[in-house]
Formats: sequence, structure tokens, C-alpha cells
Amino acid sequence: MVGDERPVPEAAAGGTLIVGASQAGLQLAVSLRQLGDSSPITLVGEEPYAPYQRPPLSKEYLSGASDLTSVDFRAPGFYEESGIDLVVGERVTGVTLSGNGNGSMAGAGSGVALTASGRRLPFARLALTVGAAPRRLAVPGAELAGVCLLRDRDDAVRLRARLHDAARVVVVGGGFIGLEAAAAARGLGKEVTVVESAARLMGRAVAEVLSAFYLAAHRRRGTRVLLSTTVTAFTGDRDGRVTGVRLDDGTLLPADLVVVGVGAAPRTELARALGLVCEDGIVVDVDARTSNPAICAAGDCTTQPHPMTGEGRVRLESVQNAVAQAHTAAATLLGAPRQARPVPWFWSHQGDLKLQIAGLAIGHDDHVVRGDPDSERFCVLYYRGGTLLAADAVNSPADYMAVRTALTRGVAVPREAAADPGVPLKSVLTARPDAVLPT
Ligand SMILES: Cc1cc2nc3c(=O)[nH]c(=O)nc-3n(C[C@H](O)[C@H](O)[C@H](O)COP(=O)(O)OP(=O)(O)OC[C@H]3O[C@@H](n4cnc5c(N)ncnc54)[C@H](O)[C@@H]3O)c2cc1C
Repeated sequence: MVGDERPVPEAAAGGTLIVGASQAGLQLAVSLRQLGDSSPITLVGEEPYAPYQRPPLSKEYLSGASDLTSVDFRAPGFYEESGIDLVVGERVTGVTLSGNGNGSMAGAGSGVALTASGRRLPFARLALTVGAAPRRLAVPGAELAGVCLLRDRDDAVRLRARLHDAARVVVVGGGFIGLEAAAAARGLGKEVTVVESAARLMGRAVAEVLSAFYLAAHRRRGTRVLLSTTVTAFTGDRDGRVTGVRLDDGTLLPADLVVVGVGAAPRTELARALGLVCEDGIVVDVDARTSNPAICAAGDCTTQPHPMTGEGRVRLESVQNAVAQAHTAAATLLGAPRQARPVPWFWSHQGDLKLQIAGLAIGHDDHVVRGDPDSERFCVLYYRGGTLLAADAVNSPADYMAVRTALTRGVAVPREAAADPGVPLKSVLTARPDAVLPT
């Protein structure tokens, strides 16, 4: 690993440069090695840390159940042993390509990247795994101390320290991260209010029945949830510390800590400077190729064809997607054969409510609720034209695994079986002897 304290040699001109040293970037480097690439790999990231996991930051770390020692992906010696030159604390500010840029001739993807501190990183192959940046609220007072974001390790450390001393916490945004933070704060005995501008919680990701369940469940646990409510300003004291949150109806919620969890925007600045096509993310194809076929991109920064149906484009922000797409990108860079993409999956732990999602529900025209939401153990299965697309399982790991297996193996899960909690879903799978549980 290379930090700021010692000079970094230029990346060997024959190697791969991966910009963005997190979930996707690390996986891309590891997959290159697994696929037999022995040429130099440089993994450069602007954060001053070796790649680490983000999911625990809003869960175990924020609630105090764990510290940061367990978030690193790899032991420090791993990078050197694997021949991966990890450059941390360096933001790539520009990239110049030396090939013709159309991917049709050798060296088309080669060039040199420049970092903010003036380092030059030459490369023969380039991959962008630059992730997403948290959206900020453009309202007065957004810069006050105590108005916190939660995307990276430094955010989490700041937030946890402030949470310790806070009594009244307002969470702006009722998506996954906001609700995880709210659950952690509530679990620590804080007075918590969630303010969501949409009419339901997690509205971009789950069906109405799930939103309604989570609304009731968070309220049962003592969290106040305001829907269809917009924040218009934050108020502060003379020392520049937040004291309140002004709502669109004029109400002022007292607050000594605010967590802003209103989504993340893909980091497309480098890709745009390279002339790559970008929409809501860097546009890539099923092989993780950008509009310059010599350059790949993976993870939260991309928008891609739907991984299950191939129809339309989606931008997925999940560990599973970052890992799978990075592996695809590595294969593409090496000219290795395309491998089948695994079924997407995701999880969100909001206190004791463990949500697991298998598949993608986009485009569903029907859903089945399996079990009783009031029991806090149930599952929602989504169908299109009678075909199972996805399931959201709350505190139901067996159903989640059964659905993931069914989707992986292409086994039908009849609606009637899904609707009857008395019929174990895995009994549907045993009808197909080749159905094995995914790892
Ligand atoms: C608090 C939190 C909780 C989450 N919980 C879950 C969960 O429970 N389940 C789940 O599936 N997913 C979860 N996620 C999402 C998951 O962590 C992301 O999908 C995953 O991190 C995406 O990996 P990535 O490598 O594509 O992008 P990122 O993790 O965003 O990493 C991109 C990296 O690139 C760096 N970078 C950007 N531009 C440059 C540049 N020009 N030069 C150098 N470096 C650059 C960034 O600093 C960053 O370190 C969570 C995310 C957060 C923030």
C-alpha cells in the first residue's frame, strides 16, 4: 500500500489503472489476478484508506456494535502480495488517452492519468470504479455543524461522535441509509424524527406494502416519521451548530444532529471529460464497456442494461452489483469469455428488521404477500406475467434464499405456493434436483 508519506513510482505503462479504490475497484483488481492477469495493476483512490466496506457504517458501526477494525476488506499485506499497487489519498483529476479512442486498435485504451498532487499514472488499460457521491440539500443552513452526510468512513466517524452527545436527531430522507441511521439512533435511546418528501418510505426501491410495514414498524419503535414533508432550511446557533429543521409547513423541529440521507449521485466527471456517454451514470453495456469499448466501468457509477431482463437501463447501488460488474469488467479487459451474471441481491438492516432482497422488482405487474406483516416476518414476491422477478424478505432468511435459488436456477415459484406460508418455498425447489442454494 502506498500512502502520502512516500513517493509513488509511476504505474508501469503496460498495466491496468483502476480509478476508485472501493468495492468495485478492489474486486476488479482481484478478478484480474484470478483470471490470470500478471501485468501491473494500479488501484488509485482519493480516500486516505485502503478499500473498506461501507454497509457496516450505517449499521453496526453507527449503533456502536462494532468499531472500524473490521471494515477493511483485506489485510495490509494483501496488496503487495497480490502485486496490486494501491495508491491512496490521490484523486485522479484528468486522463489523457494515447490511442485512437475507438477501441479498434491495440493500445486504444492506453494513456496517462494525472492526480491532484501531480502524479502521473500511465496505463495500458483503464477502468473507472468511481462510485457515487452523497446528494446534499440545497437549503439555507446546510453547511451548519451537525448537519451530517453518511457515505464514507470519515462521515461515519464524525456522525458517531456527534450521535453520542445528541439528544434530538432528525434524519432527512426515508431511504435505506436514512432508515438504518434512524434505527441506530433510536436504538441508542435518541429522540428521532425521519422527514421524507415522498408519500412513502423507500419508495424508489420497494412496494407499497413494504413501505407501509416499515412506517408502522419504525413508529412502533418510537421513531417519528413525517411523510410528504420537505425540509426548507436548517437553523443554527451563534457558533454555527445546527439547532433545528424548518419544514415546508413552517414547523421547526428542534435538532442537535441532522443526518441527510437523500441519495447519491454517480461520479461521472472523469467519464464526461473523457467524452464517454453518461446519463444517470456512466453508460455501460452488458460487458461493462463504456461508449469507448476500450474503457470499462463498474459499480455505483454506472447505468447498465437490466441484469436479468436486458431491457431498459438501471443504476444499481449495491455490494452485489459492484462485485459482479467488476468481475465482468475484468473479464472484458482481458478478452476473457463473458460469464453469466448472478441474480442481484441486497440487504438493509434497520435495527432488528433484517430486509433481504433477491432479484429486481422493476416492471412487476403483480405481487404476493407471504405471511403476516404484523408478525414482522414476511415476504413479498413480485411477478410479471406470472413469472417471478424478485422478493423482499423481512426477517425471513429461508424464503429469501429459496427465492434467490429459484431465480438463479430458473425454477418457477407458483403464485399459489408463494401465497401459502404453510408451504415451505424450498419445497418448490426440491421439485428440481439441479436446484442448489447460491453461495
Ligand atoms: C452507509 C452505506 C451503507 C450501505 N449499505 C449497503 C447494504 O446494506 N447493502 C448493499 O448491498 N449496499 C450497501 N451500500 C452500497 C454499497 O456500499 C455501494 O453499492 C458500494 O460501495 C459501491 O461500490 P463502488 O466501488 O462502486 O463505489 P464507492 O464505494 O462509492 O467507491 C468509489 C470510490 O472511488 C473514489 N473516487 C471517486 N472519484 C475518484 C477519482 N477521480 N480519483 C480517485 N478516486 C476516486 C471514491 O472516493 C470512492 O472511494 C451502502 C452504502 C453506504 C454509503
